[in-house]
Amino acid sequence: MPSLTATATSINTTPVHDAVVLILILAAVTLGYLGWCYVAPFARCGRCDGNGKERTRTGRAWRPCSRCHGGGARMRLGRYLVNYLRAAHRDAVRADRIRSKRGQR
Ligand SMILES: [Zn+2]
Repeated sequence: MPSLTATATSINTTPVHDAVVLILILAAVTLGYLGWCYVAPFARCGRCDGNGKERTRTGRAWRPCSRCHGGGARMRLGRYLVNYLRAAHRDAVRADRIRSKRGQR
């Protein structure tokens, strides 16, 4: 009868290998999140739960949500970063174009 004791096989990993895998996973998650923010820039407002309105202090009347201004949606945090990066890229391309035009004259 074969023995039922578990044999621990050590997977040959080095600390450098683990760090590279961790960095790759973090990069994939970050790029995935930024891609998601590019595709779906808006999310449901957390304060009014997407209704766009909230109760007044007395609790009897409704008013537009103060966070989403009645829209019921908020921009994702990553979308602010995407917009910033796109604006920075656009400004850089524009400045480069102006610089090259000045060089032609
Ligand atoms: Zn809201």
